[in-house]
Amino acid sequence: MSDHQIYPIIIVGGGPVGLYLALRLIKSGIRCLVLEQKPEIDNHSRSLGIHPVSLELFDELQIADQFIEKGTKISKGHAFADDTFIGTISFEDCPPPFNFILSLPQNMTEQMLQDTLNRADPECLQRGIELVDFYQTGQSVHLTCKREEGILHYQTDWLIGCDGKNSIVRKKAGMTFEGKQYPDTYIMGDFNDCTTFGSDAAVYIHRDGLVESFPLPDGQRRWVLKTSNYFENPTHSILANLLKKRVSIDITRNQMHMISSFGVQHFLADTFCTGRILLAGDSAHIVSPIGGQGMNLGWISAGFLFQALHQIHHKNRNAEQILQSYTDVARRIARQVALRAEMNMRLGRKQNLPVLRQLLIRALVNSPLKNTLAKVFTMRGLGKWWI
Ligand SMILES: Cc1cc2nc3c(=O)[nH]c(=O)nc-3n(C[C@H](O)[C@H](O)[C@H](O)COP(=O)(O)OP(=O)(O)OC[C@H]3O[C@@H](n4cnc5c(N)ncnc54)[C@H](O)[C@@H]3O)c2cc1C
Repeated sequence: MSDHQIYPIIIVGGGPVGLYLALRLIKSGIRCLVLEQKPEIDNHSRSLGIHPVSLELFDELQIADQFIEKGTKISKGHAFADDTFIGTISFEDCPPPFNFILSLPQNMTEQMLQDTLNRADPECLQRGIELVDFYQTGQSVHLTCKREEGILHYQTDWLIGCDGKNSIVRKKAGMTFEGKQYPDTYIMGDFNDCTTFGSDAAVYIHRDGLVESFPLPDGQRRWVLKTSNYFENPTHSILANLLKKRVSIDITRNQMHMISSFGVQHFLADTFCTGRILLAGDSAHIVSPIGGQGMNLGWISAGFLFQALHQIHHKNRNAEQILQSYTDVARRIARQVALRAEMNMRLGRKQNLPVLRQLLIRALVNSPLKNTLAKVFTMRGLGKWWI
């Protein structure tokens, strides 16, 4: 079966970034198509945190409230050195109204973005279609895609790769992706909550490796533990035993909802734009998940890309110049977020001088600098401060 359809903008990838970008375009009157290879949303949740900067972006679309209704507001994080309490960082003094981090599993976030997009334009998101090849001519890009029933052909003015870290768009356009794999490995799982933390987060800077704990909706809690090696087949008992040994919390009998292992990488594309091919989200930048900022960074860069496309489409502005500014600003912010994520990750590593590190953290958490820390943890000051 053969077909040939023409769209002003085609987004490849219906993950959180592609869905958000499509919603912004559709709501501002710019027609676009999203092609997603998976027939449905993945049930495995990676991200859990929606930061205030992202809630502000959602608020511009008048959708922030529906996310807040489903999620859990994290207003405080308690810090421990080994298992001794050393202080609390509060987000309540951050700029209102979004002076909290919203905990919501990524699959629920994607479902809500998808439902909102489907209501705005039921034809926009097409699932079960995989981009396999494309080429650029002067004014357009020609796509070859695969679906169960056969091959499809599309033509577009702008092709946007929101197709994740292994992006075919980035690779075939010849954009380089520089970075590295860190030696750090983690195990992460969601369980029924047995702690007294309620809706607060907790971070244990432990001599045997970091332990992070975040509330989730529906009475669940996520545990993330630094491990000394990668567990190919992580299990409830591996995570529970490590947790008990480090911080004396026993989740052996708590119902488990998800478990996984992950390694950590940092990669950045050399440009986010070449001719009529553009990138946003993980296709353009990968940061360490420790600190929980990768998806939020994707929305921030998609927000800048939307502004650029809006100016080109509605105001007839010079595309080359505007897209170069998009690349410059979004790459600068991606580098800054990567630096912050790396600092979080280094803090949680096993160290030779644990006592010195504990004294330093105790001093930070109990000084006026803790307000700056709260801002860094909530992704404030990007593009303004050096960290
Ligand atoms: C363990 C872990 C925990 C994390 N926790 C957090 C957190 O707490 N906070 C946070 O902000 N971030 C977090 N992240 C990062 C976050 O998950 C990613 O940054 C986010 O998913 C990126 O979204 P995206 O839309 O750019 O890419 P993806 O989510 O990867 O989506 C890309 C989409 O493109 C589709 N696709 C790919 N190729 C094609 C093709 N050829 N044709 C059609 N479709 C295609 C894929 O099927 C996929 O649906 C975490 C990541 C990990 C691994």
